[in-house]
Amino acid sequence: MKIHEYQAKTLLKEYGIPIQDGYVIKDINHAEETILKVKTDFKSKDVVVKAQIHAGGRGKGGGVKFCPNGDNALQFCKDILGMNLITHQTGPNGQEVKKVYITQAFDIAKEFYVGITMDRTTGKDVFMVSTEGGMEIEEVAKDTPEKIIKVWIDPLEGFRSFQLTKLARGLGLKGAQYKQAIQILKNMYTCFKKKDISLLEINPLVETNDGEIIAIDAKMNFDSNALFRHSDVIDMRDIDEEEETEYEASKFGLNYIKLDGNVGCMVNGAGLAMATMDIIKINGGDPANFLDVGGAASAETVKNGFKIILKDKNVKSILINIFGGIVRCDRVAEGVIQAVKELSLSVPVVVRLEGTNCEIAKQIISDSALEIVPADSMLDAAKKVVLASKN
Ligand code: ADP
Ligand code: MG
Repeated sequence: MKIHEYQAKTLLKEYGIPIQDGYVIKDINHAEETILKVKTDFKSKDVVVKAQIHAGGRGKGGGVKFCPNGDNALQFCKDILGMNLITHQTGPNGQEVKKVYITQAFDIAKEFYVGITMDRTTGKDVFMVSTEGGMEIEEVAKDTPEKIIKVWIDPLEGFRSFQLTKLARGLGLKGAQYKQAIQILKNMYTCFKKKDISLLEINPLVETNDGEIIAIDAKMNFDSNALFRHSDVIDMRDIDEEEETEYEASKFGLNYIKLDGNVGCMVNGAGLAMATMDIIKINGGDPANFLDVGGAASAETVKNGFKIILKDKNVKSILINIFGGIVRCDRVAEGVIQAVKELSLSVPVVVRLEGTNCEIAKQIISDSALEIVPADSMLDAAKKVVLASKN
């Protein structure tokens, strides 16, 4: 789960990390008073107006503006509230800006990058820092990766003090700034662990002309499987930022990710779902989604799965690929028939059922007289569903 920059900063603040502070607005009528409030509450002559969307790269996309004396801040709030912000992380369709964060400004001397994530290759958290922070960090990672210093934190040993020192030294800091950085990096890791964060980035962490080290931006993604432990984090969920169908699917307990293709897929088990997407691709098709209906697919789950898939107007055909282990294929077949009847499906449905009671299931489908295309194997199913998607 992702949260906004302003929410991530409230968490950083709780963990004693100094932030660029401000207030968030949704309604343009509150902009003028909020700009004044930021100037007085945070003793800031200038202000920065920042679009709040669940994607980075806002600065480059035109979603962050430094406003000297706060002069153009109101106009900029008007310009970006409701605008469709396109960044390298939003994809070509962009994301509508529904919230704007008005913040204090700083005179920045240096911009650093600091970030923590889980490195799946080593099974350890990796803490990364760079003196080359700011909006070009992706280029730094690509062209001069040696400028990013990394330490891997062993889950049994924890964050060791020599690792902390290596990171703070890597930022090239000395004296009071070095001490501030040590405290910030330490608190970041505590926050990362305590809150079950999967990605925590501060980019940029800056040194101001006054010698203060401050988090100017913040990005946090959380491990969804651990959210039950953090009701405060769940409260920060912003459904406006999520793909509507993915949110609907999560309510049904389905594992659904929307993709750009036109072949809807309903599969039980994540491994089989991946293999299904592969075989559709190999046969010249394009999956419209990843959907794992889970190990205990029932008539109800199949129906809910159909509802979600059909919300995507790009879908031209649907492949149901079920392997009956614990799941009984005859039950799934009944679910398919019930759903096809009830939802009066207008797109062709190809069904491949294998495993427990699959013979009975095939019989049920052929007796139904509904237009469901049976398939004998995954390859056969993929060929049929791809052909149907092109008609
Ligand atoms: P994003 O990463 O989405 O582009 P940031 O919050 O990192 O958004 O802002 C982009 C850039 O804007 C920063 O790298 C920084 O140079 C500038 N900026 C942001 N906030 C301030 C501020 N308070 N004072 C001065 N410059 C700022
Ligand atoms: Mg940033």
